[in-house]
Amino acid sequence: MAVRLKRAGLHDLVLLERAHEVGGTWRDNTYPGAACDVPSHLYSFSFAPNPDWSRSFSPQPEIWDYLRRVAKDHDVVRHVRFGHDVTDAQWEPAANRWRITTTGGVFTAQFLISGCGPLADPAIPDIPGLESFQGTVFHSAAWRHDHDLTGRRVAVVGTGASAVQFVPEIQPVVGELKLFQRTPPWVLPRHDRDITRPETWVYRNVPLAQRAARTAIYWGRESYVLGFVHNPRLMKAVEGLARFNLRRGVRDPGLRAKLLPDYTIGCKRMLLSNDYYPALDRPNVDVVTEGIAEFQPDAVVTRDGVRHEVDTVIFGTGFHVTDSPIAQRLRDAEGVALADRWGDNMTALRGTTVAGYPNLFMLAGPNTGLGHTSQVFMIEAQIAYTMAALRHAARNRIDRVEPRADAQADYTAWVHRKMRGTVWVSGGCDSWYLNDKGRNTTLWPGFTWEYALRTRRFDPQRYHLRPEVPPAGLPPAAQSGTGGRWAGGAGAPPGEGRTGEGHTRQKEAVR
Ligand SMILES: Cc1cc2nc3c(=O)[nH]c(=O)nc-3n(C[C@H](O)[C@H](O)[C@H](O)COP(=O)(O)OP(=O)(O)OC[C@H]3O[C@@H](n4cnc5c(N)ncnc54)[C@H](O)[C@@H]3O)c2cc1C
Repeated sequence: MAVRLKRAGLHDLVLLERAHEVGGTWRDNTYPGAACDVPSHLYSFSFAPNPDWSRSFSPQPEIWDYLRRVAKDHDVVRHVRFGHDVTDAQWEPAANRWRITTTGGVFTAQFLISGCGPLADPAIPDIPGLESFQGTVFHSAAWRHDHDLTGRRVAVVGTGASAVQFVPEIQPVVGELKLFQRTPPWVLPRHDRDITRPETWVYRNVPLAQRAARTAIYWGRESYVLGFVHNPRLMKAVEGLARFNLRRGVRDPGLRAKLLPDYTIGCKRMLLSNDYYPALDRPNVDVVTEGIAEFQPDAVVTRDGVRHEVDTVIFGTGFHVTDSPIAQRLRDAEGVALADRWGDNMTALRGTTVAGYPNLFMLAGPNTGLGHTSQVFMIEAQIAYTMAALRHAARNRIDRVEPRADAQADYTAWVHRKMRGTVWVSGGCDSWYLNDKGRNTTLWPGFTWEYALRTRRFDPQRYHLRPEVPPAGLPPAAQSGTGGRWAGGAGAPPGEGRTGEGHTRQKEAVR
C-alpha cells in the first residue's frame, strides 16, 4: 500500500507498526519449518518479482528477507513508526479526521488504511488451569527459540497449517510428543523442490519467464475454485490424492483412522506436507483425539480423565480472525467500535469499506480471505481499489468517502448468496472461516480474478461523497490551485502531480 501511495506522489504517509521490524506474518512466525504453502513465484508482490527464490515454497527467513528488501528498495522504512501499537482510532466528523491513539503518541489522518493482517493476533483457547501449568507454554507465532526441546515431553495443541509444518521438525528432537487433535486436516503431498541455478539464471535474465511461471501457478490454483465453489463433488479426485498421502505416510491402521477426516476436502484449509504423517507414525508420538478438559501444573488432562504428563505446551491454535482485535479499536463518530457494529457478522463493501466509518479502508477485510491461492493477490486488488477511491476523491475535490449502508448490505447479501453450496458451508466441518453462527465471513466465494475485476474501479454511486468544505471565509473558487491531497496540488490525480504549493497543505490533510 505504501509503495503504491508513494508511486502516486503521496509521500505524506505514516505507517504505524507495533513491532520493531517490517515483515508481519513472516517476521513473527519463526517456528521450525515455517514456509509459505503457495508457490513463491505467486506468493510475492506483482511489482517486485524475486528471481532468487531458493525453493518452490520458500522458507520463512527468505520471505522475511524479501519483504525487508522490498520495503528498503521502495524507501518505505523511513515512513514507519516502529513500536507504535494502535490502541484506538476514532472518526472525528467535525475535523473530518481520524484521531489515532498509539503507544507512541497520537496522530490525525484524513484517510486511515488498516493493514493489521488477517492472521496477526495469536489465539490461545480458554482452557481451565492453563495458568497453573508449571512448564513452558508458547504459541507457534511466538516461538520460544530459547527453550531447548531436546528430550522434552511436549504437548502440541492443534493440527492446523502451522502444526503441520513444525511437528515434523520437532518430532526427531523431543522425547515424547502428544498431539492434541480436535479435527484432522486433509493433507496433500507438497511438491516442493529446489529451484535450480539455471532456472534462477533464466528468471534473472528473462523476466518474462518468471511472469509466465507465476501465471501458470495462478491458473493452476484458480482451478480449485471449480471444486470449492461450483461443484464440491469435483473435490473427490483431490481427496483421493490426500487419502493416498495418508496411506503412504502412516502404516498403523488405528492411527490412520484417527487421522482420516470425515468432511469434504477443502471445507477446512487443505494442508501440504510430505513429512507430517510419517512423523506421527513414529514411536515417540501419540495422537490424542479426546478433548482437553484442563491443565494441571505438570499435565494435560483429557475428558476421559487421562493425565498426559508434559513439561512444554505449544499452541498451534491459530489466530483471532472473526474477532479481529483491530475491529474493537476502530470507532465511529459516536464512539461505537466496529466490532460492536458488526456483532458476529463482519461485512464491508468489496471487503474494504464500511458504512459509518468514513475514509477507512481495510486490507484483508471481510470475505477477502482465500483457501487456495495467494492472499497477496487479493491484497493487491484491494490496494488498487483504495487507490482508485483516493484518486476519485482527489480529482473531484471530495474529502469524505463512505459507503452507503444499502450498497454494503446488497454487496454482503450477494457474497452470501454466492457462498451457498460452497464446500466451506456445505462440507460438513467447523472451521476458522466461520463465525459462531456458521456464516463464512472470511473467505471470498469465487475466482480471485472476479474479485480483481470488481475492485478495478471505484464505484462512486455506492458511496456518500462529501465535497471538500472550503476553509472558513474562503469561497470555493479561492481554493483553486492552493492545495489538495496529492503532492501535485489541487485535484492532481496520482502520478500526474506537480510539486509546489499543494505540499504544505497536503501534509496537514493526510496525516
Ligand atoms: C504461519 C502463516 C503462514 C501463512 N502462509 C500463507 C501462504 O502460504 N499463503 C498465503 O496466501 N497466505 C499465508 N498466510 C496469510 C498471511 O497472513 C497473508 O498472506 C499476508 O502475510 C498478510 O499480510 P498483511 O500485511 O495483511 O498482514 P501481516 O503480515 O499480518 O501484517 C500485519 C502487521 O500489522 C501489525 N499490527 C497489527 N495490529 C496492529 C496494531 N494494533 N497497531 C500497530 N500494528 C499492528 C502487525 O504487527 C503486523 O506487522 C500465512 C499466515 C501465517 C500466520
